[in-house]
Amino acid sequence: IEWRLLRVLTGIEDNILADIPSRAVILTPRLLPSDTIHMNTRNAVAFVTEEGSRSSHSAILARALDLPYVSNVNSRIFTSIPQRGEIIVDGNKGRIIINPGPEEKQNAISDQTKKKRKFRSIKKKLVTKSFMMGDDPIGILSNISNAEDATLAAESNVDGIGLFRLEALYMAKSVLPNERDLVNDFVKILKPVQNLPVTIRLLDIGGDKSLPYLKTESGRNPLLGLRGVRVLKKYPGLLRTQLRAFIRLAKDHEMKILIPMASIADDIVFIRSALENECKKLNSSCSIKIGAMIETPSAIMDIDNIIANSDFLSIGTNDLIQYAVAADREKLSCSEYYEAGAELIIKSLGTVIQKSRTAGIDCVICGEMAADTEYTKALLDSGFRQFSVAPARINKLRKALADILG
Ligand code: PEP
Ligand code: MG
Repeated sequence: IEWRLLRVLTGIEDNILADIPSRAVILTPRLLPSDTIHMNTRNAVAFVTEEGSRSSHSAILARALDLPYVSNVNSRIFTSIPQRGEIIVDGNKGRIIINPGPEEKQNAISDQTKKKRKFRSIKKKLVTKSFMMGDDPIGILSNISNAEDATLAAESNVDGIGLFRLEALYMAKSVLPNERDLVNDFVKILKPVQNLPVTIRLLDIGGDKSLPYLKTESGRNPLLGLRGVRVLKKYPGLLRTQLRAFIRLAKDHEMKILIPMASIADDIVFIRSALENECKKLNSSCSIKIGAMIETPSAIMDIDNIIANSDFLSIGTNDLIQYAVAADREKLSCSEYYEAGAELIIKSLGTVIQKSRTAGIDCVICGEMAADTEYTKALLDSGFRQFSVAPARINKLRKALADILG
């Protein structure tokens, strides 16, 4: 509301990002999922923000679009940059150059061309390569939010969709979608991957992700309040519509349901019973698998109970790390803790993986850590065999796997 009010009072158009000129660098204090939903992403070439860190939503979006992103930039410089000026955004070095000289421009262009060439040759060599670790095949899956992601995932020859996030689909609407809207949207979005298994996550709203037409919780600590499955438990109608749409989709599509923020076993029991109810009403056999997203420390503390109630697990490291070290994933001021948390979390994940193996259920990693090639070896060593990453990261992951596994 604060942001929207400011936009109205300052006369800034609501969907300013829908109209950005081509080759635009987006400079903004922060980018929220609700800001980017209407963005004409084809015209954006880089993001620069004041707030944000490696796992913030803006970083996830930049990775999904394969765009350079620099955060922790003092917003005062935003006002000193002319609207039609030129700017180099170097995501690797974490720096920006405003109004670069001819030599700086030339160097940046040739760096970019070299990288693109190298990447094209990696893609050509690796796109059909499969990997084994001992006797275990390595699964390469994709995270998607829309039809463009699904097309890229299909072109990248993935084994399936490991995380279909529904938030963008809901945010693009002005009223809650009904069952038919959802089924139509799913069929359209999933067309490029219609022959692949898909894990759809129930709507993960609340906390840092809001819908203009649905009242969730604000006030202090919304990240510790109603979000993910907790919102669905409070609004049974919101849950029911999704479950019914999933049941209809499952008739023609191999799919699983993922529960966001499953922090106690009852979260899974609740969703399973709601699914069974809807299956009965729709006269459906109800063989859809239900998995828990492990993104709170309590889910790890009670992992035996969580596994006993789940058909598979998916590890959401973005939230898991922020809750484990009490360091907001959006805040760069806490990034030292966030990074330390990433190292620590790998140890506890080893136990989760071993237990899910013993129980004979799949365990995928779908948080940003899965795509961070700095951690690929550690994740393989701790037992991970299934990685779900943004489409633009798939071939980088393949390159890291080729370097490690040959
Ligand atoms: C996560 O928390 O790791 C995750 C994949 O979910 P999101 O980034 O959508 O919160
Ligand atoms: Mg999450």
